[in-house]
Amino acid sequence: ASTIPLLAQASAERSPDKVALVIDSEAITHGELDASAACAAGWFAARFEPGSRVVLAGPSSLGFVRCYLGALRAGMVVVLANPSYTPAELDHLVADSGASLTLTDFDEPVGEPLAPVGGPDNVAVLAYTSGTTGKPKGVPLTHRNLLTSIRSAMAAWQWSEDDVLTHALPLFHQHGLSGVHATLIAGSSARIFSKFSDSLVESMRTASVLFAVPTIYSRLVSSPDAFEGLRLCVCGSAPLSTALAAQLPRVPLVRYGTTESGLDVSNPLSAPRADTVGIPLPGVHVRLADEEIQLRGPQVFAGYWGDAEDPFTPDGWLRTGDLGVIEDGHLVIRGRSKELIITGGMNVYPREVELALETHPAVVEAAVAGIPDSRWGEQVTAWAALREPADLRSHVRAVLAPYKIPKQVFEVRSLPRNHMGKIDRKRLVSPVQRATE
Ligand code: ATP
Repeated sequence: ASTIPLLAQASAERSPDKVALVIDSEAITHGELDASAACAAGWFAARFEPGSRVVLAGPSSLGFVRCYLGALRAGMVVVLANPSYTPAELDHLVADSGASLTLTDFDEPVGEPLAPVGGPDNVAVLAYTSGTTGKPKGVPLTHRNLLTSIRSAMAAWQWSEDDVLTHALPLFHQHGLSGVHATLIAGSSARIFSKFSDSLVESMRTASVLFAVPTIYSRLVSSPDAFEGLRLCVCGSAPLSTALAAQLPRVPLVRYGTTESGLDVSNPLSAPRADTVGIPLPGVHVRLADEEIQLRGPQVFAGYWGDAEDPFTPDGWLRTGDLGVIEDGHLVIRGRSKELIITGGMNVYPREVELALETHPAVVEAAVAGIPDSRWGEQVTAWAALREPADLRSHVRAVLAPYKIPKQVFEVRSLPRNHMGKIDRKRLVSPVQRATE
């Protein structure tokens, strides 16, 4: 048991002169990072009580990480905010979290150095879910939650202090932030980019580990040689299509997790497969109840912030809202229960229909959702980006039962996606379609 600032301090003591982070083109050693976090902590502690919330809203930068570690070191709770939020969205976050401070500029906090305050069961982060299936919910995560989760993954992935991680994922989301935690725990190095560009491709050539989401992998298809030196390519946060996996020079190591539970399931390092998310990480318990994936373990949070619904079963398992099946001992995600389409009393998994549509060579990407229908309850509807005109309904008839065939296929230029590359189904269904709900 420890805390994130204590682990950063330990790495600084072990390897003070080793580069900890390079963010865009700015570099900092473990020693410098810990010292500057200590000064930021002094600034926070002079103004705010431990436990008070500070919203950090900005793109990835060294200043962001310094303030993140500084606030944690002062015992504060960091509220992670997407910098592209509108003022109204940010207002909701500030009001909901009861934050004492919102920082969008990370240069200011400098104070007298402060020793780390607090223990492993203090809340470190208040993360907000991306809200793809409803309103964003506040997820309080303790140091213990965050550290157990990434440590299990590090053990399974044989992370060492010699690893060099690279990614272009936002640090306000757990996927990107967990890479910073791994770096601080192992005393390794990470090169992080505030947005995707060719710099990530260049960085991959001398890194050992890549973290990415499927949309980033789709941009890396044209640079197969950049993968050559990597020992581990992790993929998560959204479904990886089999078509995309086949275009990559190697199968990425797919893993599954949620904001509420961190990293839970991963493919084994030795034999990763693209069609499953793998097996539970050490210490994680997974069960299926009516096809819903439910989780237990020290990485799982204790409950939502505020008055959001209770996500636990009466016997204490986290209801993820994801549907899955076990095939050959491996977990396969079939979609989210909120996205399940019920048409004429039959269940249709959008993912299954999307996969069938994506086998047509003209399809760049496809999404499926239910729209309200007075006769069937819901109507299976597809949206597809196409290279050329195609009759998709005839194409999927060969592989899908009639009730799963989309009644309508809308052609779109591209699918609306959020910052992690997840399809934003709220934006998919047009206002006219939603008005009929
Ligand atoms: P909200 O609940 O508000 O819609 P969110 O659940 O999208 O937000 P996250 O916690 O970032 O926010 O996402 C977790 C979800 O991402 C999981 O519940 C699962 O549906 C999906 N997911 C994560 N990893 C994978 C994966 N490897 N394959 C398929 N889906 C994944």
